[in-house]
Order: sequence, then C-alpha cells, then structure tokens
Amino acid sequence: MAKAKARQSKDGFKFSKSLGQNFLQDQGIIDEIVDAAQIGQEDLVIEIGPGGGALTKELIKEAGKLIAVELDDRLIPELNARFMPYGNFQLIHEDILKVDLQEIIHRELESGQLKKVKVIGNLPYYITTPIIMGLLEKGIPADSITIMMQKEVGDRILAKPNTKAYGALSIAVQYYSEVEKVLDVPRHCFYPQPNVDSIVLKLNIKKQKDIEVVDEGLFFETVKAGFGMRRKTLLNSLTLIQGIDKGQIGKALDLAGIDPARRAETLTIEEFATLAKAIGEFK
Ligand code: SAM
Repeated sequence: MAKAKARQSKDGFKFSKSLGQNFLQDQGIIDEIVDAAQIGQEDLVIEIGPGGGALTKELIKEAGKLIAVELDDRLIPELNARFMPYGNFQLIHEDILKVDLQEIIHRELESGQLKKVKVIGNLPYYITTPIIMGLLEKGIPADSITIMMQKEVGDRILAKPNTKAYGALSIAVQYYSEVEKVLDVPRHCFYPQPNVDSIVLKLNIKKQKDIEVVDEGLFFETVKAGFGMRRKTLLNSLTLIQGIDKGQIGKALDLAGIDPARRAETLTIEEFATLAKAIGEFK
C-alpha cells in the first residue's frame, strides 16, 4: 500500500495543495533566483506568494521596497512579524489575481525614490498562466518578471516554431518580453515535494515591441484560431476567426505570402503579425 505523504512542517503547518504550497528548501537555488532578478536599492520588488519567506528573506536585503502578496491567512502574522522590522516591507493579504498592481506601482513610483519595478515569485502552479498573462496584457510598468513555474509550462513559453511545445502561450509571452531561462529546479528542492520539476524564467519586458502588430485583438485571434486546430492547415484552422470566410482567408494568406497548406506551428511571430494584418484587409 502506498504510504500517505506527510504534508506538515516541523512546527505543525499544514501545506495546502490547493494553494500550490511547495516551499523552496535549497539556499543555492534561492540565491540564483535572487541574483538573476538583479535587484537594487532603487527597485520596487513585487513578490507573488511569499509563503514561508524563503525568497523574501533575501529580496528584502536587496530591494528599495518589497511588496509581497499572499493569500493564505495562516501565513500573514508570521510574515509581518518577521519582515516588518526591516522598514521596507509591505504585505498585501489578497489573491494576486484581484490586486490592482497598476495602481500600487504608480503610487509607489510617485515619490521618485523607487525607479524600477521587478516582479518575482515561486508561483502557485494552478494559476501560473493567468498571472503571467495578466501582468503582460495589462502592461504593468515592470522591467522584468522572474518566476518559477512548472517545467512543462516554461518549455512552452520558451518554445520556438516547428516544435511540439510551440503555441499561443509561446507567442503571447515572446511578443511582450525577451524570455531568458535562468535555471532548472528539480522537484527535490521543495517541501513538500511536487510531482513535477520546475524552471525559473526571467521575462525582460520589451519597452518597445520589436514586432509590428496593427491590431492586437486580431493578431491574438489569428494565433488562437491557428492553434485551435493545430493539426489542420491554416486555410482550415483560420475559419475559426469571426466574420471571415474561407475564400477571404485564402486571399489573406496569398497577400501575406504564406502557403495555405502550412500549419500554425511553422509560423514565426513575425509571420503571424503579417498574416493578421492581411486578414484585417479582408475582414
Ligand atoms: N515563495 C515561497 C517559496 O518559494 O518557498 C512559496 C511558494 S509556493 C509555490 C506559492 C505561494 O503562493 C504559497 O505561499 C501560496 O499560499 C501562495 N498563493 C497561492 N495562491 C495565491 C494567490 N491566488 N494569490 C497570492 N498568493 C497565492
């Protein structure tokens, strides 16, 4: 019979599976993540999910100000007791998906003492994609987002055309940021140990986009449609786009100089941008 896994710490804290609580134990890994984030005294650092404070205890020494967002009520008193004495710590007890980071960042930067914003976190895996996409789509004025995630999601974000992992997520994240791999983190570096390995990525947000997109809505609709039926040819899969028929799609592909028999996974981001622009001409 399989032995039930202990999900309790020495001091009796019961780790919540539903909140994705796998706390980092390896100091070497913690140091590498903090180093990669390149934090200085002029930085406002936003930490998502401080948990037991494994990253927080290092970030607080480097940052001008650290704002941490944690949802679990049970962790709040301990985090406040431990980090408030530093004088540059603020804890927001809230769901990260409900926090208005734009507003918080604007308020913090107003004083002029803090110049840059760096987001960092060992993310709860169940909401990795909504967190990343929420930050990128809202255009929060951050320099970088350094985050740990499930390896498989990280591989999708890093993926290049003509690979199985390449898809709408790769394109969306690479459109908004330069993606840098920081390090792989094996499962044994956490307690409790998760069932998956992890990866840390640094997303360096593009101040100016290097891919010209005329209509972002139509660009992402085109990408979504292309990968919605990824095994079909573009001529067929793009019929998922509202308000355009197959004949018009054929003309758009012709205008964009893209073979209608190609599949979405062979297109570069630039080609998707050209294609979306052409679709706009016929829609
Ligand atoms: N940073 C700690 C570490 O590296 O050891 C903890 C990481 S643990 C993977 C994720 C943390 O995010 C937990 O502390 C969990 O309670 C918190 N969390 C989960 N869902 C959240 C949400 N929606 N908003 C804010 N924090 C959340």
